[in-house]
Amino acid sequence: MLPRSLRDIHLPSFYVNGSRLNIVSKKGYLGYIISSNDKDDFAVQKECRAVYARGNMLLRKFKICSTEVKKQLFTSYCSFFYCCALWCNFNKTSLQDLQVAYNNIFRLLMNLPYRCRVSPHFIALGMNHFSVIRRKLVHSLYQRILLSKNTLISTLVRCNHFASSRMLLENDKTPDTCNCRKKEECPLPGKCTIQNVIYEAKVTTENDYKRYIGLTAMPFKKRYSSHKSSFNNRDKSNQTELSKHIWKLKDEGTT
Ligand SMILES: [Zn+2]
Repeated sequence: MLPRSLRDIHLPSFYVNGSRLNIVSKKGYLGYIISSNDKDDFAVQKECRAVYARGNMLLRKFKICSTEVKKQLFTSYCSFFYCCALWCNFNKTSLQDLQVAYNNIFRLLMNLPYRCRVSPHFIALGMNHFSVIRRKLVHSLYQRILLSKNTLISTLVRCNHFASSRMLLENDKTPDTCNCRKKEECPLPGKCTIQNVIYEAKVTTENDYKRYIGLTAMPFKKRYSSHKSSFNNRDKSNQTELSKHIWKLKDEGTT
């Protein structure tokens, strides 16, 4: 069995110039925090503090700038998380804290109300949401490793152990974006599980026509069934603007 941390194994003392070296539970190396329990939480928390520090600096100095300037500054200073592509073993709350920090700084900088949803504003300004940035950084690392001309890296990538690893498998695999049992009833043929979608609904009555634009970060299929249930359940009539409109039509007896 592998030891869970350095405390579980007996290590001999090491000396340099007569001074005994201390054994520590975490150590910063090249800007990254390596911890003895093999977790990335310290690194995630460090990035969280860094986002607040950089964000506060932006708020102090550039709060009254135009939206376009603030957008560029936010993208340059707050939309990069050092070594984020390497995080794989951390508590969910650490990552949530970082996302909250990112969203809070964005709200304050753009003068948005506290606790408002930030996704529509990110889309309206053509900026990337936290999860999008993370995904892009991970993908960029994937590509750099797989396409690297470095002899050592390319040898490792081609070795049997690496070839069978998840990284290569995921790279070759075409993602399955529909999980419907009856494919002919799929709400978005062949693509119902895709996420981060902007969609349009048209409500047509005998003498009226309304368009509803929605967006969702969750799988489209989930959002679709949530809309359907809000049309049939009066308790959920206030869930969305679309359900409010449908129930208004129902109450008026319009078809
Ligand atoms: Zn489907």
